[in-house]
Amino acid sequence: MDSHTKESSLQRTFSIVKPDAVRKGHTGGILAMIEAAGFRIAAIKKLSISKPQAAGFYAVHAARPFFESLTTFMSSGPIYVMVLEKENAIADLRKLMGATNPANAEEGTIRKKFAGSIEENSIHGSDAEETAKFEIGYFFAGYELE
Ligand code: ATP
Ligand code: MG
Repeated sequence: MDSHTKESSLQRTFSIVKPDAVRKGHTGGILAMIEAAGFRIAAIKKLSISKPQAAGFYAVHAARPFFESLTTFMSSGPIYVMVLEKENAIADLRKLMGATNPANAEEGTIRKKFAGSIEENSIHGSDAEETAKFEIGYFFAGYELE
């Protein structure tokens, strides 16, 4: 495989260091695991979102029983939103994150190491190409991406 072919297979995904992890001082530990796994941080910023902004982001879960609690949690403090790049970024980040419920997360995953509960589970990662595109666009303008 030449370098051109390799470059064209890079994929981008969207991720959030959630409020629980930021509060506990785990941002650096999580970013270190992400970089050690070969991701390039293409963009990152710290911000706080309102409950309606959290609802817009998680609109796909609007009918779920945990939606009210989830949007309250996601708007409860600062988060880091980021765009991560590598080959097979979407699937590989999901693997590195571990199961939604940290009780079921494998050893060596971010949620196993840092997450406290199924809701306060420290990190978000896009689950498909379409959602990655929507989620990156929800938080980043084109000029912020390099
Ligand atoms: P994320 O979308 O945040 O990357 P995920 O894809 O592993 O996580 P989803 O099923 O998409 O999980 O749920 C979105 C988020 O909603 C979860 O990460 C978690 O914070 C919260 N959540 C999911 N299931 C529950 C539940 N049963 N009770 C409370 N909160 C939940
Ligand atoms: Mg999800």
